[in-house]
Amino acid sequence: MILIDGKKAAAELRDELKKEVSSLKDKYNKVPGLTVILIGDLTPSQIYVRNKEKSANEVGLKSEVIKYPDSVEEKTVLDKIQELNQDETVSGILVQLPLPKHIDKQKVIETIDPSKDVDGFHPMNVGNLSSGYESSVPCTPLGCYLLIKKIEPNLNGKKAVIVGRSNLNGKPMTQLLLKENCTVTITHSKTKDLKEECLEADIIVAAVGIPELIKGDWVREGTIVIDVGINKIEKGIVGDVNFDEVSKVAKALTPVPGGVGPMTIACLLKNTIDCFKRSQN
Ligand code: NAD
Repeated sequence: MILIDGKKAAAELRDELKKEVSSLKDKYNKVPGLTVILIGDLTPSQIYVRNKEKSANEVGLKSEVIKYPDSVEEKTVLDKIQELNQDETVSGILVQLPLPKHIDKQKVIETIDPSKDVDGFHPMNVGNLSSGYESSVPCTPLGCYLLIKKIEPNLNGKKAVIVGRSNLNGKPMTQLLLKENCTVTITHSKTKDLKEECLEADIIVAAVGIPELIKGDWVREGTIVIDVGINKIEKGIVGDVNFDEVSKVAKALTPVPGGVGPMTIACLLKNTIDCFKRSQN
C-alpha cells in the first residue's frame, strides 16, 4: 500500500511555487499578494490563518491579514473587499469562514472579484469549473486532485466515487475528475447503498465529516482512497476512512492528519500565483 505523504507533496509544491515567485519577481518586478480577512476570534480559524500567512511568506508572496472583531458590520467588510478588488498589489483575497451569523456569507463571496477569488467559491468560478473553462478551484479538492495524479497520472475511464456533495469539496472534486475523463458517481447522505457504490470505485474521495465511515470491506483491492475528513474523537483526530482496515486493501491511501490537509494551504498559494499570472496577461 502506498501511504500518500501529503506533507512531502505539499513541501515539494511549495518549493516549485517559491521558484515560480522568484522568476515572476524577475519578470515583473513585483510578487503576487494574498490578503486574508479574519473576523472574530475562533481558535481554529486563527490557526488556519496563521498557517496560511506563514506558508505565504515562505514561498515569497506578499501576505497581509486584516482582522475584525466579531461585532464588525457587514458593510465594513464588503467595503474593504471592494477596496482590495481595486488594489493592484493584491492578487488574491480570502475571507476566512465561518463568518458571524449577521454577515451574509454568499454576499461576501460574491463581492470578491472573481479574478481574485483564491478560494474558488464565487459563482463565476464555480460555473467556469463546471463548464471546463479556466477558473480558480477550491483548494482542498485541488489538493486531492494533485495527490491522485501523483499516484495515477492517466485517469481516463477510471471509476471515481465521491462521498459528500458539498460546494467546498464533493462538487468541485467531481468536476476535476470529470475533466480527467473519469466516470464519476457523487454520493451523499440519501444514497441508498453507499457500500455498493464504493465497491465499484477505482478512486474514492471521502468528504463527509463522519469518523471512519468508509470500512475495509467497502473498498476493493487496488483502489486509491483520499480521505478529506477531519474528525475529533476520543482517541484523537481521525478521517472519514477507517485507516487500519482500508490500508489493508487500498492501493494508496492518505493518512489523517498529514494527507490532504497540508495540500490545502499549498494549493491556496498556487491559486494566488495563478491569479497573479492571469492578471498580468
Ligand atoms: P459538509 O458538512 O458541507 O458536507 C458533508 C457531505 O457529506 C454532505 O454532502 C452530506 O450529504 C454527506 N453525508 C453526510 N452523511 C453521509 C452519509 N452517511 N453517507 C454519505 N454521505 C453523507 O462537509 P465538508 O465541508 O465537505 O467537509 C467534509 C469533511 O472534510 C469534514 O470532516 C471537514 O472537517 C473536512 N475538511 C477537511 C479539509 C482539509 O483541508 N483536509 C478541508 C475542508 C473540510
